[in-house]
Order: sequence, then C-alpha cells, then structure tokens
Amino acid sequence: MHTFYYPDHTQHDPARLHRPDDAHWNKYYAEVAQRGQIIHNALQTADLGPISPPGDFGLSPIQDVHAHQMLTLLQNAHDQMKLETGRDVALPETFSLRPRSKRHFYSILGQLGLYCFDTSSPIFAQTWEAAYWSVQTAVSAAALIAAEPEKTVYALCRPPGHHAAADQFGGFCYLNNVAIAANWLVQQGQRVAILDIDYHHGNGTQEIFYGRSDVLFLSIHADPRYEYPYYWGFADEYGDGPGLGFNHNYPLPPGTQAPAYLDTLARALIQIRAFVPDSLIVSLGVDTGEGDPTGTFQLTTPDFAQIGQAIGQLHLPTAVVQEGGYRLDTLGQHVTAFLTGLLQRQNVLPS
Ligand SMILES: [Zn+2]
Repeated sequence: MHTFYYPDHTQHDPARLHRPDDAHWNKYYAEVAQRGQIIHNALQTADLGPISPPGDFGLSPIQDVHAHQMLTLLQNAHDQMKLETGRDVALPETFSLRPRSKRHFYSILGQLGLYCFDTSSPIFAQTWEAAYWSVQTAVSAAALIAAEPEKTVYALCRPPGHHAAADQFGGFCYLNNVAIAANWLVQQGQRVAILDIDYHHGNGTQEIFYGRSDVLFLSIHADPRYEYPYYWGFADEYGDGPGLGFNHNYPLPPGTQAPAYLDTLARALIQIRAFVPDSLIVSLGVDTGEGDPTGTFQLTTPDFAQIGQAIGQLHLPTAVVQEGGYRLDTLGQHVTAFLTGLLQRQNVLPS
C-alpha cells in the first residue's frame, strides 16, 4: 500500500483555540494537528508500505468543484480578519439564511457568514496552505489508482473534507478532498463510487454530486435527527434529476455497535457492486469508534479490521481518504486495523 502525507499540515492547528479544563468547548476544535502525526506514526509502526509527499496538481481540480468566491475567501480570510479586527483567527459571527444573500460584502464577517455554516472551522494564517495540500494528497492517491489499478492507496489528509460543499465550508473542513479526487477520476473517464464511513454524514460530498449519475455516493452515519450535521443525511435523500438513485444514506441510531453496523455496510456494498464502478474512494472516519469525543457509536479496533475486510471483498481499485476520528489514544490503531483488513481481503497481505 502506498501512503501520501504532507507533514506541514501541522501549521493548521485548531488546538490553539482550546481552553484548559473545558472538554465541551474543546470538542468543537477536536480536529487537532496531532491527529495526523499519530496516524503517521501508527502507519510507520505497522509497516504497511512506503509513505511519500503528494504531487502538486495545482488549483484547477479544486476550481472544478468549488465556487471561486469561496476559494478567494479561504485564501484571504485570515489576513482580512487580522487587518479589520486584530484577531489572529477568522470565524463567523452570523450566518446569512433564508435565502442566502447575493449582495457583495466588504467586511470579513459579512463574507464569512455567506460561505461558512458553523463555528468549528477556524481559519488561521496557514489554513489555506494545509487545505490545499490535503486536496493534493487525495488527488495524488486518485492518480496512483488510475495509473496502477492493482494498488491500494491511502491519503492521510488533514484537514478533512467531507462536510465542505461547492460553496459552503464547515465541520472542520474547508475543501472537499474526496469530491475533488472523485471529480478528477471522472475527468479521466472513470465511474467512481464514494463510500463515506465517517460517524457524521458527508453532506458536502452528497451536495456536490447530488444531481450527477457518474459518481455514486453512499454514507453510513449517525442519524441526523440526533447528530451533526443535522440538516442532511436522511434515508430519503436519493439524488435529484439525472442523479436520482445515485445517492444512498444509511442513518444509524446513537450507540450503534458492530453487528448492526456490519449489516448496514453489507447493504451499501450491494449498491456499489450494482453500480460497477471503475474505482472506489472511501471517506474513512474512525469517529465511529467507542469513546470518540464527537460520537456515540461503539466500534472497536477488531471491528475496524472487519469493516476493512468487507470493503476489500469488492476487489476494486481503492483510494482511502482520511476524514474524522478524534479519540487520540485509539486513532492510530483504528486506522491501521481498517487498512490491514482492507489489504488482507484484497490479497495484498496474508490473512
Ligand atoms: Zn466525523
């Protein structure tokens, strides 16, 4: 297995907003730089294959998915906030709703409320750079499975991406790594299936492909009636227009354990087989693990190996892209268990 990893992602670190002894507050900034380092160290220890920095595919794959105005905002928000308010982090204070305003705003807070949908996605001086290279990490993985379909590739992305839509960011996400990688593969003539197994619904990815039939999107996640992102991820969201039937959501109740999870996964895999994709992208979140500060599911390390094995039985060219997972003491072992299970079933590793 090949891994792509951009070590300087650590320049973007929401941990700098943490408050001592305030676990509830800190949960909103759980996407800390240490996560990437922990997974990287666990991969090295597990010895799953070479790790290299991503290639640079430039801005155009990003521009093909995201709105120009949002990209400009992400690049400029920190500097403009600093200039206007003296603050070293850009976060919205209000949100433009019902309907979103089409006017032009000169103030940074006016602009942020148009494109950001929550308060958990701070923009620091280095956030754009980290988000840019997180995309390049995912596109590098896509390019490698396109060139060498027998390979399984892991993109150790940080920050994550699946909550970012074409013109909205939030949920610790800025640019949608998986959507950009999938769209890049479509441009190479491929049919792509995206399986999102993060605890939270991949609302951004869903929205980007909602009207399209060339990308199948499936998401297994916590029921949005109880959990973030609340307004997306229901079982009756099947896609729209030409995309009707190419979107499948599998919301599960709080506290879900392995038997129910694996049954649901088996149903999702039937849909993937029926679609007959050229390649598979997995949005891997291990915040489904027991004790995750952002979740309620109770999956264990051996469960992640089983999930990897089940997906590996598809025998598809597969790029695994990192999304969430916030319990730091189990993060590395959950990710390596998943990847090891995946490789075993693909007959890359002995089982
Ligand atoms: Zn998540």
